Amino acid sequence: MNPYSMPCAVESDLRRYMAQQDEDDRRDEAIDQRTEDLLAGTEYGPFTPANLSEALGELDMTGIEALCKLLTAGNTAGAGLALNTLIGDYWERAARREAERQIDNEIANACPRCRGRGCRHCYED
Ligand SMILES: [Zn+2]
Repeated sequence: MNPYSMPCAVESDLRRYMAQQDEDDRRDEAIDQRTEDLLAGTEYGPFTPANLSEALGELDMTGIEALCKLLTAGNTAGAGLALNTLIGDYWERAARREAERQIDNEIANACPRCRGRGCRHCYED
């Protein structure tokens, strides 16, 4: 046996592993992109009146206490920055959850031959 050739079972495991890695990377990229798109829209944009109001209502005590401390100290600029981060994080999490749901749904419904990469079978049914 040639010691430099990989046994077939190992090579096929490696190929499967690499294909899975490739698919995971494409899923992550698609989720990042969809999250950005959602944050730019009105449904998940942090600074529409309805969304700002919702996020303010959902602030946890740690966030509230941090704001109180900054405002009490007269640090309105710091409070503004903290508020911006707290509200932005809230909607980033919500948009990412929704993006994951959408992308996983799209992957599950993608063409089984090319998994949505685009092939001549994609539009057959
Ligand atoms: Zn296809």
